[in-house]
Amino acid sequence: KLQLSGVRKSFGPLEVCKGIGLTVREGEMVCLIGASGSGKSTLLRCINLLEQIDDGEILLDGADITDPDLDPQLIRRRIGIVFQSYNLFPHMTAVENVMLAPLRIHKRSRADLLPEITAMFARFGLADRLTHYPDQMSGGQQQRVAIIRALAMKPEIMLFDEVTSALDPELVAEVLDVVRELKRMGMTMVLATHEMSFAREAADRICFLDKGVIVEEGKPTQIFEYPQHERTREFLKRVL
Ligand code: ATP
Ligand code: MG
Repeated sequence: KLQLSGVRKSFGPLEVCKGIGLTVREGEMVCLIGASGSGKSTLLRCINLLEQIDDGEILLDGADITDPDLDPQLIRRRIGIVFQSYNLFPHMTAVENVMLAPLRIHKRSRADLLPEITAMFARFGLADRLTHYPDQMSGGQQQRVAIIRALAMKPEIMLFDEVTSALDPELVAEVLDVVRELKRMGMTMVLATHEMSFAREAADRICFLDKGVIVEEGKPTQIFEYPQHERTREFLKRVL
């Protein structure tokens, strides 16, 4: 369980997160929506400790992960993050990309890792792509490998920042299918997304961000059909 309260983050004079409170229960999928610049990526980066928050707390299973005495590397292993750009190492095959971190950090052997990684490739429709290099794969395939790479660390939570934004429209669905499958597997997830139809259909909860504030949150039907705030209505009018 992830609990944010009063999270503030500024870049110089610009306050980007203005006291964000958010609880994500185990197995829940929360989608962050909102205009460009509203603070979605910054919030995800704060959760993953890629940004240091100025105020507030972020609890993971009750313990504040922003405690300066904790090693951020250890926390980051518990929270997977996938970005718009997949950033696979070009000189390594798909399976080598995925194994890199678990080999080094979990000190597991290739022989030990290979069966479970092969199974993950199969589960996400990549059974025949283990030994392909990134430039031999489509954007959708590369992004799925990037997701498997994050999963290989066995995170408790996965964060997704616009993971389909760089993809051609026909490749978006195959990546969103992976997210759906993770949800079925019970993964706890927070996604920043511009894919409104996906958010509406798949999310347990939607948070609408505007200028660094969660203006409104609720079940998809509540947000998309009965938005309570004028700012939410204006945003939806523009994007739907
Ligand atoms: P988008 O939908 O375009 O991805 P977003 O909701 O993810 O937008 P953020 O990327 O979180 O928005 O950015 C929020 C604001 O913070 C923007 O005004 C952005 O320019 C600013 N910002 C983000 N990162 C930095 C940084 N490292 N230094 C200075 N300003 C930043
Ligand atoms: Mg963003």
